[in-house]
Amino acid sequence: MLLAAALLLAAAACGKDGSPPVKGPAQDELPTYQVNEDFRLPGSPTWRRAERRGYFVVGAKEDQPFLGEKDPASGGYTGFDIEIARMMSASLGLDPDRIRFRTIASANRETALQNGQIDFYVGTYTINDNRKNLVGFAGPYYMAGQGLLVRKDEEDVKGPGDLDGKRVCSASGSTPYQRIRDEFPEAELVAYDSYSICVDNLLTYQVDAVTTDDAILIGYAAKVPEELKVVGRPFSEEPYGIGVPREDDALRLALDDALEERERNGDWRRAYEATLGLSGVPAPEPPPIDRYPAGRARTGT
Ligand code: GLU
Repeated sequence: MLLAAALLLAAAACGKDGSPPVKGPAQDELPTYQVNEDFRLPGSPTWRRAERRGYFVVGAKEDQPFLGEKDPASGGYTGFDIEIARMMSASLGLDPDRIRFRTIASANRETALQNGQIDFYVGTYTINDNRKNLVGFAGPYYMAGQGLLVRKDEEDVKGPGDLDGKRVCSASGSTPYQRIRDEFPEAELVAYDSYSICVDNLLTYQVDAVTTDDAILIGYAAKVPEELKVVGRPFSEEPYGIGVPREDDALRLALDDALEERERNGDWRRAYEATLGLSGVPAPEPPPIDRYPAGRARTGT
């Protein structure tokens, strides 16, 4: 809970020029999304099930500033990924205010989609071929890249090449964890379920660096800028997709259409500016949607 303590300190220090809001966007500053009442997708078993119950169950993260964050008091989720889920629900005809979000850690995403625990997943989820053998992906809707978070007083670590003998923390089951293990084997890798535990460990000198996507790290650094900094340039490409059950091509392609429409009508940008944009990075162009044909993933190994 050290991060929580640090965040309280940051809250006390807030109000200085340029210091980001600590609690994330206020509800009334977020865009609203018109529900597409006439939408039907009978070819999708996931959609039919959601339609019957009246809402989507969406997997997300709960400890990633500006992306997916749960307010412990209200239980509400906020962030860019959460807004993506909300606009997708509206496009698919179900009230976004009725979404039930469920926190699912990086290592458990594929299982949660496979066993029907969630309808779809929006949480800094990198699209790659290995995962495509297990789940489907709509998108990408954002392009991140792997980076490094260190303490403000760290001088030695400027990139992944400086990690030899250093204790580096990341989340189990994540692509950044795998990349350090495979490409920088001299680093002393430590894994936890979530990045906020890694950040606590960084603040208490248990580890020397935290590695994951820059979008996530910038959020942690922005909350305690006196303590932490992101160093170096991104050293991978992490295209974020919406995870769906692998067999549900109808849902995947409908989400691709919905993303395209929300990018065209400005909702994507409005959502970005109300969430991730608060960390100080201006809205980029969204990456092109990779509408891979039905059944393709099934031919993979
Ligand atoms: N985008 C990376 C991944 O999907 C890292 C972030 C995360 O663990 O969610 O593995």
